[in-house]
Amino acid sequence: MGHLVLAGAGHAHMTALTAIPRFLEQGHAVTVVGPDDYHYYSGMGPGLLGGTYEPDDIRFAVREMAEKRGAAFVRDRVARIDGRGRTLELASGRSLAYDVLSCNIGSYVPLGDGGPAPSGAGLYTVKPIESLLAAREHLRRLARERAAEVVVVGGGPAGLEVAGNVWQLGRAAGRKGGHAPRITVLAGKRFMGRFLAPVPGMARRVMDRRGIVVREGVRARTLEPGRVVLDTGEERAADVIFVATGVKPSRVFARSGLPLGPDGGLAVNRFLQCAEHPEIFGGGDCVHFSERPLDKVGVYAVRQNAVLVENLLAALAGRELKAFDPGGGYLLVFNVGGSKGILRKGPLVFGGRPAFWAKDWIDRRFMRHFQNAS
Ligand SMILES: Cc1cc2nc3c(=O)[nH]c(=O)nc-3n(C[C@H](O)[C@H](O)[C@H](O)COP(=O)(O)OP(=O)(O)OC[C@H]3O[C@@H](n4cnc5c(N)ncnc54)[C@H](O)[C@@H]3O)c2cc1C
Repeated sequence: MGHLVLAGAGHAHMTALTAIPRFLEQGHAVTVVGPDDYHYYSGMGPGLLGGTYEPDDIRFAVREMAEKRGAAFVRDRVARIDGRGRTLELASGRSLAYDVLSCNIGSYVPLGDGGPAPSGAGLYTVKPIESLLAAREHLRRLARERAAEVVVVGGGPAGLEVAGNVWQLGRAAGRKGGHAPRITVLAGKRFMGRFLAPVPGMARRVMDRRGIVVREGVRARTLEPGRVVLDTGEERAADVIFVATGVKPSRVFARSGLPLGPDGGLAVNRFLQCAEHPEIFGGGDCVHFSERPLDKVGVYAVRQNAVLVENLLAALAGRELKAFDPGGGYLLVFNVGGSKGILRKGPLVFGGRPAFWAKDWIDRRFMRHFQNAS
């Protein structure tokens, strides 16, 4: 009987975690490797920053989910995968052998040369989501002292949501006699430029109404705690800097010499399987779906859950695999703070409170589904 290792307990592994008894019933052993006892749901991360949610509202107790069902949980990080030797090297130096491996180790925020974004006091990347909680506490402390300067680097959805929720946090602080921050978004070429009209215009109007400065056509060249240098040479002091410049798949696969897609993610075929090492599978932001590139959104990670479980069971039993169908378009709702949102599904676009309510309802339902299972 085989040993299944789930590397990372992210969004694409939620069903696998609940399905652990199915693996055990068939005589397999299951080990889950993750750096933390909890996994945070990114869709609600900006709401955590803005104070709408508390950590327990938006996280899954993945260690408990695994152990309660009879799997082993190893609190560690995968550092390297030895595909030939079917062994994981963990950050602690420990190694772990597998028969079948499934990877859901997500993505990170790089900067400039593709390396990780710098870190330090007052510098927060939008991933991991836990860093938004640290940022919230920092902003609340500053609000008691003075009006802080906040710079959000990146003018995509994460930059929009972060700026809107920092504004919400500042409004709450102002109501308690604290100081609201001044917020600037360095939007790169064009704010929300990846989206079709009317989304960029709607997002821009939300920012303008709140006094959030959006600068288009400028990029950050250097980021360090307390200071941003723009590509124009201009320097800005900043108490808090958010880095929301987009994500790249985990570097574990490149480090391991495994087949990569153009984005650096583990290349997987329509079965979510690495063709060169058929016992390695994966889902979520860390993989490149070779049939067609998928956006780095949680929607796809969630859609991959069921097929991943069936294919892991099939691979352990030597049965035929099922193809993953990514499906058609997907619903996107941006939480812009102030209990407002912008909702887009194909040609349908609307903003305001109903858009936020829709997101809040969908997100809470998703959380309940797996939290109740834990
Ligand atoms: C601010 C923000 C808001 C977003 N909002 C939405 C939204 O509303 N809707 C949407 O569809 N998408 C949204 N996204 C995109 C979404 O975050 C990603 O597509 C989603 O997180 C992908 O899920 P994942 O499980 O693949 O990766 P992750 O969420 O990154 O999870 C990876 C997991 O693996 C663990 N891990 C990492 N490295 C290792 C390692 N070396 N070894 C072991 N474990 C490891 C991590 O701790 C984590 O638990 C948002 C992104 C951001 C940044």
